[in-house]
Amino acid sequence: MKVLKFGGTSVGSAQRIKDVAQLITNRGRNIVVLSAMSGTTNTLVEISEYLYKNNATGAKETINQLESKYLATIDELFSGEDYKSKASEAIGEHIDFLRRYNKPVFTVFDEKEVLARGELMSTALMNLYLQQQGVNVCLIPALDFMRTDKNAEPDTEYIKLHLNNILEQNQNAEIYLTQGFICRNAYGETDNLQRGGSDYTASLIGVAVGAEEIEIWTDIDGMHNNDPRFVDGTSPVSQLHFEEAAELAYFGAKILHPTCVLPAKLANIPVRLLNTMCPEAHGTLIFNTESTHTIKAVAAKDNITAIKIKSGRMLLAYGFLRKVFEIFETYRTPIDMIVTSEVGVSVTIDNERNLSAIVEDLKKFGTVTVDKDMVIICVVGDLEWQNRGFEAEVVNALREIPVRMISYGGSNYNISLLVKKSDKVRALNLLSQRLFNK
Ligand code: ADP
Ligand code: ASP
Ligand code: MG
Repeated sequence: MKVLKFGGTSVGSAQRIKDVAQLITNRGRNIVVLSAMSGTTNTLVEISEYLYKNNATGAKETINQLESKYLATIDELFSGEDYKSKASEAIGEHIDFLRRYNKPVFTVFDEKEVLARGELMSTALMNLYLQQQGVNVCLIPALDFMRTDKNAEPDTEYIKLHLNNILEQNQNAEIYLTQGFICRNAYGETDNLQRGGSDYTASLIGVAVGAEEIEIWTDIDGMHNNDPRFVDGTSPVSQLHFEEAAELAYFGAKILHPTCVLPAKLANIPVRLLNTMCPEAHGTLIFNTESTHTIKAVAAKDNITAIKIKSGRMLLAYGFLRKVFEIFETYRTPIDMIVTSEVGVSVTIDNERNLSAIVEDLKKFGTVTVDKDMVIICVVGDLEWQNRGFEAEVVNALREIPVRMISYGGSNYNISLLVKKSDKVRALNLLSQRLFNK
């Protein structure tokens, strides 16, 4: 059994839904995970913003636009009146659900209910379309088995037990279909796995059923060696180690949600990134691949703040770093990069919510400097320290760019460099030119 996850663009129109239906039929009894049609979750966020502000007119207009989009999709997707009316009824229920919100206080719980409509609608359409094509499909509601615990972490035991029970009760199905992204929390409320979280759903399901492979189908032929949104002429990387994929996903390669890699890695399940628009392309295989002694790819993570604490008292002191880290722990703020010297330490964070409180607390250890609007450029590959010359090539490639921090040796797979946001695109392009287009 495989898990096949299709992202927003892969199901973004009637034609795309038809293409995906063709791709998933006659491929064995697999579990298909769908995201919302592209643009839908953003529209649902917009509707929630209107509802938070009690702007009933804004919400109503946006809901009407969403409804028109879905009605046009239904018209194109289904051939007979029978299925057209079944689909209109299914979508109508979700649209009415949105229209019923007219209470004075709109809460985060309401927002999660609103956001869940996207995946509920895309799977409703695919379910009916597959039925129309004569496929014996079984729609399994994610809200019946996907659950997080009190720490908002996936409740893997619960997921495994409930999902496998559902599969056992529906053994005749040719294909199982379910929603990505949405789940219930420990209190049974509708919740989600964060934006882009359908990849995580696929990985959690893969682990729960012991899948032979997890396929992430999207709009590009695998992980490219640089961010195609900012660099021309990037090319797909055919194989990545789990650790390399995790570094790239965490440091900004949007093709893969950062949380998706770890469960697959721990269960040793290969993850394949594939292109719905070009299914025959090889894509990227993520597994415990052999190291290749090469630099494989570059990614960038935005919205980074660097904090430097300079202190004479650090000299020969032990316990200094612990005290510094404790402040970040108190404010539940993760640190991404860290570099130290005898008289100072610099760290980066991507969550500025408690920045001023953190800075105030750090001041008792020395002089604190903050650099905002920074970007982490992450270079990934087989960077085991005995491989000579790679770090020199990276630093040399960026010789024209001011670099605020460099972190190397934390893992065998990554060199991170901190640069100004305004230098990001140039840095990414220079790295491609000098590392990959030699
Ligand atoms: P989906 O909706 O299918 O989940 P996403 O938009 O989340 O798709 O991810 C695919 C997009 O990721 C691509 O269209 C591409 O623009 C972007 N992307 C960023 N970095 C990379 C990279 N290194 N390789 C491939 N795609 C990348
Ligand atoms: N639909 C959700 C989002 O847009 C989840 C996903 O696509 O993975 O964030
Ligand atoms: Mg995605």
